[in-house]
Amino acid sequence: MPDREVLDVDVLIVGAGPAGLACAINLHDIIKQHNNTNPDKALKQPTIYVIEKGVSVGAHILSGAVMDPQGLDELIPDWKHSGSPPCHKVDSEEILLLTHKRAVPLPAPLIPPYLHNKGNYIISLGEMTVWLGEQAKKRGIEILEGVPGAELIVEGTKVAGIRCADLGVGKDGKPRSTFQAGAEIRAKVTVFAEGVRGSMTKQLVRYFNLDNDRNPQTYALGVKEIWELPEGAFPAGKVIHTLGFPLQKGPLEGYYIQEADLGMFHTPIGVGLTATDSFGGSWIYGVDATHISIGLVVGLDYKDPYLDPQYEFSRFKTHPYMRKLLEKGKLVSYGAKAIAEGGYYSMPRFYGDGFCIVGESAGFLNAARLKGVHLVIKSGMLAAQAIMGAIEKQDFSSKTLGRYEDYFQTSWAREELYQYRNWRAGYAEGLAKGAVLDLAQRATKGKGFTDPMKVKSDPEMLERFSVHHPDHQGLARFMPDGKLTLDKVTDVFHSGTNHAEDQPCHLKVPDLDLCVQRCTEEFGNPCQHFCPAAVYEWIQPTKVADIGTPDKGHLQINPGNCVHCKTCDIKDPYGNITWTVPEGGGGPRYNKM
Ligand SMILES: Cc1cc2nc3c(=O)[nH]c(=O)nc-3n(C[C@H](O)[C@H](O)[C@H](O)COP(=O)(O)OP(=O)(O)OC[C@H]3O[C@@H](n4cnc5c(N)ncnc54)[C@H](O)[C@@H]3O)c2cc1C
Repeated sequence: MPDREVLDVDVLIVGAGPAGLACAINLHDIIKQHNNTNPDKALKQPTIYVIEKGVSVGAHILSGAVMDPQGLDELIPDWKHSGSPPCHKVDSEEILLLTHKRAVPLPAPLIPPYLHNKGNYIISLGEMTVWLGEQAKKRGIEILEGVPGAELIVEGTKVAGIRCADLGVGKDGKPRSTFQAGAEIRAKVTVFAEGVRGSMTKQLVRYFNLDNDRNPQTYALGVKEIWELPEGAFPAGKVIHTLGFPLQKGPLEGYYIQEADLGMFHTPIGVGLTATDSFGGSWIYGVDATHISIGLVVGLDYKDPYLDPQYEFSRFKTHPYMRKLLEKGKLVSYGAKAIAEGGYYSMPRFYGDGFCIVGESAGFLNAARLKGVHLVIKSGMLAAQAIMGAIEKQDFSSKTLGRYEDYFQTSWAREELYQYRNWRAGYAEGLAKGAVLDLAQRATKGKGFTDPMKVKSDPEMLERFSVHHPDHQGLARFMPDGKLTLDKVTDVFHSGTNHAEDQPCHLKVPDLDLCVQRCTEEFGNPCQHFCPAAVYEWIQPTKVADIGTPDKGHLQINPGNCVHCKTCDIKDPYGNITWTVPEGGGGPRYNKM
């Protein structure tokens, strides 16, 4: 057993995203406020530690991001005048319906109310999170950067803290000369704020069966880039969302020769559109005078195992509208991350003996609005309120921490999430049916025709490869041109991703035989397509010289490319991939994301 440092704290927060930092900041502030108004019942400020797996706060933060300010307004009311990063109020917005050639603005009366962004701000969530980290540090909160939480410490029915990942373990699993055992951090309350598909939250939810009787959480994958454009090419403060191409075929389009691919610099692909009609859409946000954020969100309930979100994003950029916008631009950074879309009925129980779950780990996200920031901040604040109650009573059981649920049930966050409780489930029924259900839900405050609607998990939605490709061939794909469209490895370069080479693979695939014996035949090894970072590579069969018969090929895992999007942990049809934390500081270093 390695010698582990043991640290005792009052409150440990795992994850320095907006949710975790909001919880830390608010807990400090409400205790201070309580002490000012009740000097005779003053509470000692608790020791609050936040750990972050990224090399620094903000390094792993990826978002659109158009922020509804409601959460931040409550957390730090004067945030606009307290040195927060520059942001732009949304001053114009548009929804474009993309056919494969055209971009048609949707008439205003047809735009659903949830897509309006009046009063919201375009921000860099990465920069905003760095600033929140500074606000936390100013309050005496300790933030340990490059420190991943790896294992739960459970004692009886209670979470007693966590064990951090070891440092300096070689590929062979043996300690190197730099070995340092990860600390054990023991806390009266551990707050899990790991964002989407948290690796420790997953252990916690399973161990305590916290999602019993809930819908499975369902996800999307967002693939995003920041581009620098000449001044005047796209105004700061403008928001565009698009529907249609490349994920949905128009009724008259069917298959076509994609004209964008036949230009001088493209390899013709012949006939072929998208893998399937899938749920999702894209965005273009004017971040400042010379930068835009563009991205494509693809529902991970897609059915065709050949679908490749990074490739669909590339196709999106070849649309004539996008090609024209980006032609004088330069790619600045790339990133990808899953989004928890399930909503109200997919939220696990988010408290228990010695723990709370906040933010997107607990499902705080409104998929209809593609907005989570305001909700995750609010969830951190609601948990903070419950934790303060627990500190007052010195009782950290689920009875006192359960007040978090009570506070949630009477909050605006619940009101918003409840109104959209069946929204995403409706679209899992297909786009046309989803649109009808959407209208019905809007007319009935979210109830629709069935309430609650049941959903299948994302891997369950995947269909056999042969259903979509009876000839056992995927559709031909165009080669990236190296400027507008990039291969995955080059894209990963633009995410700043870096992992120490000599460490055990953090992507656990226990049954590699399954990949060869069943997955190839049944699903065509979808990991090589759904991963936006070329982590999973299918090495094609080679002729075996002496016996002359082909082998079956094999899976090669390139963990160094991983951008921590968590899609593999979510979408693998056999649940044969588990995402675990790599050595501290590994992963993307997002710039202005
Ligand atoms: C492509 C995309 C576009 C989006 N667009 C918008 C938008 O326009 N507007 C909006 O409001 N929302 C948007 N969202 C959603 C928004 O980004 C999230 O809801 C929000 O960031 C979630 O906050 P969080 O603090 O819960 O998690 P995160 O922001 O993910 O932060 C979690 C932090 O915890 C760290 N962490 C995770 N596991 C561990 C561990 N085991 N140990 C230590 N540290 C750990 C991570 O590195 C990360 O820094 C978008 C999301 C995506 C992916």
